[in-house]
Amino acid sequence: MMKKKVLSVALAGTLLATGAATGTVLAGDNSANGPNYEGNETIKNERLHNYEEMVKVLEKADSQSEAMELETYGESVKGRDLYLAKFGSNEDNPTVLFLTQQHGNETLTTEGALKLIQNLTSNGKKTQEILDNVNVLIAPRLNVDGAEGDVNFSLDDYVSGTHTRYNANEVDLNRDHIDREQPETKAFHENVLQKYSPDYMIDLHHQGTQTTLGDSDELVSGSILYPTTENVDDEVLQRSKQLGSVVYDAVSDKGYGLLSKYPGGSAETISRNGLAVEYDVATLLFEMRGMADHEYDDYVLGQKSNGKLIQQAVTAMEATLEALADGSINEADTSFWDDLPESGYGE
Ligand SMILES: [Zn+2]
Repeated sequence: MMKKKVLSVALAGTLLATGAATGTVLAGDNSANGPNYEGNETIKNERLHNYEEMVKVLEKADSQSEAMELETYGESVKGRDLYLAKFGSNEDNPTVLFLTQQHGNETLTTEGALKLIQNLTSNGKKTQEILDNVNVLIAPRLNVDGAEGDVNFSLDDYVSGTHTRYNANEVDLNRDHIDREQPETKAFHENVLQKYSPDYMIDLHHQGTQTTLGDSDELVSGSILYPTTENVDDEVLQRSKQLGSVVYDAVSDKGYGLLSKYPGGSAETISRNGLAVEYDVATLLFEMRGMADHEYDDYVLGQKSNGKLIQQAVTAMEATLEALADGSINEADTSFWDDLPESGYGE
């Protein structure tokens, strides 16, 4: 029997859901929590864009938009092209990079990136204002082989058997940012980071389904973190925290949005840390709730929350673009970080 703990208002602010019932408290009526997989819900991963479908979306957006340029920047272990969608190259403007799916089973981040690309290729006034003031780089699905389950090892132990965290060589790409031994990370560094020198970057991931806000029993819709290596420059750290502030405010404004502070380490093999040190790019890790596939049942989320979690990714990226376009990111209040509860696992 779980007992709901009362968090102080200072800790949880207005985000605290008011539910007082026992058991897991969802983050509001519009919760992105949705059902867990729990072995009894169908996982319809075929509704997500597979590689071929993703490429079709990218090529269609490219053909319909003068603002967008689509390039391939490398190849995966299995020879799949890696794609970068680019908007703008004005050296007076800040450049932001959105990276998704370093882990192949963390799929909705890429769905969000594809949606953002479609939004940016529409001809709205707001879009034009953003593209006049920000250079946007979108690198969807770094781990294209793991996302297809096209790998050199067995996925028999996986719930769905369709997606894996690792690349085809069973390497975690987000631990390869120093050595760059894998073709995906090597290409990403040489042909994206070193070529375009982004000022800001959001690295989008998914975590398990059971993460709570601190030691409360409220399930979060996501978790965020800035670089936590002591080698990061103070100014880069401050801009990273401001980026986090923009994302936190935008997501928290949504009924389903409830974010915790991700309890991350200081290893520089991870992009959040290593890229901030090597390239002075302000970085934010954004972990969404639940995964398409995993060896552990309770990491896998049924598809009923997919829409809101995709929207959460889009919201984070669009809010970043707006705050960069009007410069408000430079005034973003970073004090919330001091009070943001770390991820917990309930009681
Ligand atoms: Zn991940």
